[in-house]
Amino acid sequence: MMREDVAVKEQVARPREKLAPPQKKSLYDNVVRQFSKAADLMQLDPDIRKILGRTTNEIVVAFPVKMDDGRIEMFTGYRVQHNNVLGPFKGGLRYHPLVEIDEVRALATWMTWKSAITNIPFGGAKGGIQLDPCSCSSRELEHITRRFTFALGNNIGPEYDIPAPDVNTNSQIMAWIVDTYLSTIPPHERQASVHVVTGKPVELGGSLGRDKATGQGVVFTIEQWAKDKGFDLKGATYTVQGFGNVGSWVARLLKPHGSKLIAVEDVTGAISNSKGIDPEELTSYVQEHGRVSGYPKGSPIDHETFLRTKADIFIPAALENQITGSTAPLLNVKLVAEGANGPTNPDGEEVLQQRGIEVIPDILCNSGGVIVSYFEWLQNKRSEFWDLEEVDAKLHKKIIDGYQRVRDTARSFNTDWRTAAYIVALSRLETVYKERGIFP
Ligand code: NAD
Repeated sequence: MMREDVAVKEQVARPREKLAPPQKKSLYDNVVRQFSKAADLMQLDPDIRKILGRTTNEIVVAFPVKMDDGRIEMFTGYRVQHNNVLGPFKGGLRYHPLVEIDEVRALATWMTWKSAITNIPFGGAKGGIQLDPCSCSSRELEHITRRFTFALGNNIGPEYDIPAPDVNTNSQIMAWIVDTYLSTIPPHERQASVHVVTGKPVELGGSLGRDKATGQGVVFTIEQWAKDKGFDLKGATYTVQGFGNVGSWVARLLKPHGSKLIAVEDVTGAISNSKGIDPEELTSYVQEHGRVSGYPKGSPIDHETFLRTKADIFIPAALENQITGSTAPLLNVKLVAEGANGPTNPDGEEVLQQRGIEVIPDILCNSGGVIVSYFEWLQNKRSEFWDLEEVDAKLHKKIIDGYQRVRDTARSFNTDWRTAAYIVALSRLETVYKERGIFP
């Protein structure tokens, strides 16, 4: 479903400072630390390590857009393509004032690992525009999106690099990208190129189940974790940070298990209710008001109180670097299921491990989005349209296969789950490089 303009605006309209702004030291440093730990442990071939330790292409475009009042504004857009040895580059587009090359580089690299873990034939990429969507009208957002697509030109393509939604982008933005891209290629290629993006509106070739896919994948991994641990989700409590696409779907899909949502935070503030917050009602409230704060059936709490909330499961589903050396000691949960990309930095991870808090790492936990994007891409290529049951069943199989590979690897290497997830991904990439060899 498309969000109202007002919702997109409100999400970035409030000051972030009060709420733990993501630390902008270097997100890519986090990737390097995670990568090095896994590569050392598995003794990754040093040549493959050199290849995977670099991004393949980094595209930065500056482009002008005529705004509603007639003035011209310059914007900076990014597309980083990390690796495509397993298939076309694949990854979302983010519109946010803090988007910059280091962040996009990290997000692109995580996409490569994600596809490798879940055995889908994609590589890794990510992109975005440094942009405050709250300062733009819908018309301006459309023009910015179209001009960015034009500036990227054939750096994207249905068999080469396939964008998708991420923070502050949605199916409407994907529709504008498709329309612009198709308008710039020869007429006879247009019908066969609609899979240039995924996360499209269903009427335009989107897949059923793509809107909820990331949240659904998170919930499938939580279900499997609970099964493995003999933990009853009925009556379990959970807290969610970020109530956009990922966070709201996780909250809604956990409800039928009889689990209880007791605290939620978004960029505008946090709320709690120990008796439980109804995720469906809160979703309707956020759709109408564009924010979590002010929801009448929850009491306002500050950021620290939110983090300290005692619950069984914490689902970070906002931005990166939220669980750090200083915030990890505050958490009072059994499991962190990472809906967001990079919510835990290596210092935070160490604290979680010392405290016995388990983590389902982002590159496994939130891979449902890219898995169903793959299904959308396949349906477009084959001119097929799968029903929701088929999409969900195939998603379940793919993500649980990945989960089991990571769980078994963690056991055999006697390591944490993030390192195990990296080992699964790096092993597959290493094998493919060794089989193909290096040209010339
Ligand atoms: P979204 O734009 O739909 O929602 C983002 C939410 O985070 C909003 O509720 C916003 O208010 C909140 N937020 C932003 N800054 C915050 C802060 N400082 N403190 C608390 N809340 C804050 O974005 P989304 O698509 O749900 O993505 C959320 C995360 O999930 C991102 O890390 C994204 O990369 C990751 N992810 C998304 C997908 C997908 O399919 N959309 C797939 C995989 C991973």
